[in-house]
Amino acid sequence: MFIFKLLFVVLAPLLLVPIEAAAQVKWKVETLPDPKASGSGYVADPDGILTDADREAIDRRLARIESQTGIQVAVVIVSSIGEEVPKTFATQLYNRWGVGPRDSRGLLILTVIDQRRTETETGYGLEAALPDARLARLQEAHLVPRFRAGEFGAGLWDYLTALEPFFYDAEAAAEVEAQAAKRGNWPWLLAGIGLLFILVLIIGPTQSQLNPPEDGSPHYPPATLKRNFLMLNLRFWGPALLLINWVSGSLFFDAFAFWPFITISWLNLAFLLIYVRTQNNSLALSSWADPYHRYQHLKKVNTWLGLQAILFFPLMLPLWLLYRWRLRKLRYEPRVSQQTGRPLRLLSEAEEDAWLNRGKQMEEELHTVDHDVWLDDETGEALVLPYKRLQFTYSSCPSCGYITYRQTRNETLISPTYTSEGQGAKYFECKNCGYENTVYYTIPKRTQSESSLSSNSSWSSSDSHSSWGGGSSGGGGAGSSW
Ligand SMILES: [Zn+2]
Repeated sequence: MFIFKLLFVVLAPLLLVPIEAAAQVKWKVETLPDPKASGSGYVADPDGILTDADREAIDRRLARIESQTGIQVAVVIVSSIGEEVPKTFATQLYNRWGVGPRDSRGLLILTVIDQRRTETETGYGLEAALPDARLARLQEAHLVPRFRAGEFGAGLWDYLTALEPFFYDAEAAAEVEAQAAKRGNWPWLLAGIGLLFILVLIIGPTQSQLNPPEDGSPHYPPATLKRNFLMLNLRFWGPALLLINWVSGSLFFDAFAFWPFITISWLNLAFLLIYVRTQNNSLALSSWADPYHRYQHLKKVNTWLGLQAILFFPLMLPLWLLYRWRLRKLRYEPRVSQQTGRPLRLLSEAEEDAWLNRGKQMEEELHTVDHDVWLDDETGEALVLPYKRLQFTYSSCPSCGYITYRQTRNETLISPTYTSEGQGAKYFECKNCGYENTVYYTIPKRTQSESSLSSNSSWSSSDSHSSWGGGSSGGGGAGSSW
């Protein structure tokens, strides 16, 4: 027993020395070193009250909490703040450092040794998950007993262990709240789309007229669709709205937005029908609109309808099929001579070659253009009507004009490096007239896409570790004396 008493007498002053010596430093909000600023982590322990091992363990734990929940926790332990009130000090320090991300989900645990007081300051974003009463209870149960025994590291550790489940709750709550806020937006989105359609309806039909041929010639002017807003609907608004639907579906809803999709689809169909009607009406009104010309117009509409049939599957499919049927009808509608008015006969593939020149025969061979030959057997008058096929290999030859021109080779002449551009060449050739052309192009410098990707994606985790996030506190929290 005596030995123990002696040991106590000898050791007690040693235990008190660091506290007594450090107590001479009276920290102020302005002078207290910010651990984030100095890069040491989450714990400010300028008087060295915690052991290195405890401080490092707490730091690692708080880093993990931040990376998993986004919540920032600052731990401050000082010998003295002079005569200042710990609660006021904690609030001021919280706001000076800006603990927590922008949504202020943060905590600051301030311990002042000489006043035997610990204050836990909550940011606005954590007040719901950690009300003051709950904090006080956790602090009393987990921190105070350890602190009374002088075990500061263990007390903080136990307290954080008790707090941590609420951080995950807070994260879940924040997510639910964000989802709710997003859901709240979708009626506005629908209203916006509705407004857009009304605008289209007002502006659209007034401009739906085809350009008549200027010289009144019997030849066929190129089939161009009148650029009005309804046509924009066909090739732009419809797909664009669908894209908006998809994007908003992933942004504002958890899954695919079904009802907005149906709404958009039906509105799209309605506008297509209006467009098609106005096109047909203006075609029927034009004196020069023979079956071939009408075919070319409807063909263009049908190409875009094909895209819509895929995008709005299966809603637009019947319309597309109807158009295909109408196109066939127009193509094989009986023809008469424009000069004599006599009926013409459609030649078979085998018969027609005699009326096709070499370029047209080559187009037939390459399956780029179909040529229908209508013949008056009596007079020998022939009407040759070209029908382009959908293909992406051949284009119009700059020399002879037939659709028999294509790229034959693509060659890299100079490979690009990380520091200089490269050069390549595309070789083109016409199957009909033999015209050749070479197009040179530059190849952009190589980039290290992998590394740039990872540095771009670092905004969420590593940045937040290097500084506090700018959160603020309205003075919520709890304090305990021990
Ligand atoms: Zn050519």
